[in-house]
Amino acid sequence: MSNRIDLESRYCAHNYHPLPVVLTRGEGVFVWDDAGTRYLDMMSAYSAVSHGHAHPRLVKLVQEQVGTLNIVSRAFHTDKLGPFLERACELTGQDMALPMNTGAEAVETAIKAARKWAYTVKGVPADQAEIIACTGNFHGRTIAIVAMSDEPQYKQGFGPFPGGFTLVDYGDIQALEAAINDNTAAFLLEPIQGEGGIVLPPPGYLKAAAELCRKHNVLLIADEIQTGLGRTGKLLACEHEDVVPDGLILGKALGGGILPVSMFLARRDVMNVFTPGDHGSTFGGNPLGAAVGLEALNILVEDKLAERSAEMGAYLVRRLREINSPLISEVRGKGLFVGIEIDAELGSARAVCEALMKRGLLSKETHETVVRLAPPLVISKAEIDWAIAQITVVLNEMDELRLAS
Ligand SMILES: *Cc1c(COP(=O)(O)O)cnc(C)c1O
Repeated sequence: MSNRIDLESRYCAHNYHPLPVVLTRGEGVFVWDDAGTRYLDMMSAYSAVSHGHAHPRLVKLVQEQVGTLNIVSRAFHTDKLGPFLERACELTGQDMALPMNTGAEAVETAIKAARKWAYTVKGVPADQAEIIACTGNFHGRTIAIVAMSDEPQYKQGFGPFPGGFTLVDYGDIQALEAAINDNTAAFLLEPIQGEGGIVLPPPGYLKAAAELCRKHNVLLIADEIQTGLGRTGKLLACEHEDVVPDGLILGKALGGGILPVSMFLARRDVMNVFTPGDHGSTFGGNPLGAAVGLEALNILVEDKLAERSAEMGAYLVRRLREINSPLISEVRGKGLFVGIEIDAELGSARAVCEALMKRGLLSKETHETVVRLAPPLVISKAEIDWAIAQITVVLNEMDELRLAS
């Protein structure tokens, strides 16, 4: 019903440009619109829905927990927070965690931790700490985070920005080495850039960056909000290069596709810079979110979702590479984190996504030229085959239209 779209357009800020579909229900890899039409969700809320929509175990757990205890704030202990953070630390090889809600909050937490660590442990002079980030990064939307961005639209009209951030070219290890100095607190990066367009750095980059950071006493902080929790075929994308970062940021899928749950994890000597009153969040670590987060982690492990992602992702990439269309200039990705680069001369990623939507496949363009395919990790081979058929038809039709005009 387009009146829902009109209503949203009238009352909701225009800070997004949604595809014209009104969703009312979700289950597994599918969502349904207000006319009852079913769609295969290959977007999964920017990887927040890796477990699939309304995962039965998570729904059951929420139903139990919601009538028991939900929000008490961190002014008190709860029976849910400790077990959740213990499991998160165990699985990621980190010592301690600081729970927040959204990804951006966890990134802010990482920035604060790195700065305070630089002053109190590394010995950087007051207010001189620098954090190195990468060109093409996406770490969220707060003022400090967009201060690190080189995407003009993320910053235009929002200044002034805090200082203390330096950018180096993503994937360029020499540039990183040249940028590190005595005041460098941390190097913050996404192991694969998601919003930047599913950009993979050269093999060995992460490992080399970790070695450089260790040599210069700089914290390596991995933002795995999107790449983490099985998305790239390992529990963490850092594991592809056997790197355990000094700080790790998780979000999105950590909430099981149900709630915003995020955290910053780190080595003990880093996390110990925080003392009571330094930092916090009213909702961070709430028992409902913690219970959901623990169950989300347990499901990932027990249902082998990372392994599924590796297997199904390899299959998806192989099938996409078999599509013979001049519109595709590249297919890239790892696990079920895949981008189709559309030749900008021949078509736009937005047009491809709109045409796919009409055929029952939901995806979203990132930048102008990349169609992102990041379905729930529970997707089956048959569902991938169906998606490939739709993508093939859409690209063929667009190519015929282009040749006819
Ligand atoms: C989505 C995302 C964020 C921001 O998370 P929010 O929950 O939207 O604040 C940060 N970093 C990366 C890599 C992301 O993909």
